[in-house]
Amino acid sequence: MIEIDGSVGEGGGQILRTSLALSMCTGQPFKLTRIRAGRAKPGLMRQHLTCVNAATQISAAEVQGAEMNSQSLAFRPGAVRAGDYNFNVGTAGSCTLVLQTVWPALLMANAPSRLALGGGTHNPMAPPFHFLARSYAPLMRKLGADVGLTLRRLGFYPAGGGEIEADIWPAADKLQPFDLTTRGEQREAYAECFAPALPRTVAARELERVGAAMGWTGDALRAVFVQQNEGPGNALIATLAYENITEVVTQFGEKGISAEKVAQDLVRDVRRYQVHDAALGPHLADQWALPLSLAVWKRQRAASYTCTELTPHAKTNFEVIERFMPVRFAVSADGKGWLVVCSPA
Ligand code: ATP
Repeated sequence: MIEIDGSVGEGGGQILRTSLALSMCTGQPFKLTRIRAGRAKPGLMRQHLTCVNAATQISAAEVQGAEMNSQSLAFRPGAVRAGDYNFNVGTAGSCTLVLQTVWPALLMANAPSRLALGGGTHNPMAPPFHFLARSYAPLMRKLGADVGLTLRRLGFYPAGGGEIEADIWPAADKLQPFDLTTRGEQREAYAECFAPALPRTVAARELERVGAAMGWTGDALRAVFVQQNEGPGNALIATLAYENITEVVTQFGEKGISAEKVAQDLVRDVRRYQVHDAALGPHLADQWALPLSLAVWKRQRAASYTCTELTPHAKTNFEVIERFMPVRFAVSADGKGWLVVCSPA
């Protein structure tokens, strides 16, 4: 039984999700204590509990402590079963984080799976659907793990109600670690605004401000058609597509925050990425560690990536991954950013 202290490093929900994912991939049981001790409201919230229940369902796990607000969990996975599953957070909690919890185990299974996921699709503090579809999924495919993602309905806080469909194909024998240290040539850069159930002027003002700051015009500024009943919500998304990587940067509008401020914050984050030449932005840098380490472990071959920032999220994720698999992460400064090398231990 691997014992994990949930208060280490970042002390957030990622420790739980990485532990669940890798417990199922490696067959090792774990006990997690002090769950989310680093957060104002510690313990399992609805979104985390949905992750635990989804993992329990796909791996017929024996589990103790799977309750709202629980601060400890014991999880003993059985064999992972591919199939058709429906996981609904039931609130506006992120369903993309539920997907990331079960995705690694299902790609190690021996048959395809289809998931219907319900909850928030565009949440602050979680990967938005468009980030998964454009940044993360293409890298997974390059790693050998094919996946199909469809957005059926947007889901924003506080209404939720979003729907995503995911098709996951077996990839255990196909995973091939690769180095990702340069972006390559820039291919495209554009901004989109999703603003269901808000006045039309919101999207227009946000896009105009982004366009003025970035020098983007015409088709690089897109007010996306959305169903009014999918809101209210506001996501302003910049997509920067390069030869080797696509970075998706997102800002969310909120009551009391002006459209101009949302645009200004997006421009700040886009520029923060553009002043670097490292391949991955801060979010991919923590999320890429898990699939890459699975490929490194399977093929017993090292691989690396460069990133603009190494957040406490990323460092904590490296530590948790090292508890489950015989791999090591080595980090060194590289220009203005970082080089991360994952090697078999
Ligand atoms: P808590 O920490 O309160 O438990 P949580 O369970 O939602 O919250 P975190 O540990 O904060 O989870 O992890 C959130 C994950 O979402 C991280 O992997 C982070 O990189 C990712 N993420 C957050 N914002 C974005 C974004 N704008 N684009 C892509 N990924 C994001």
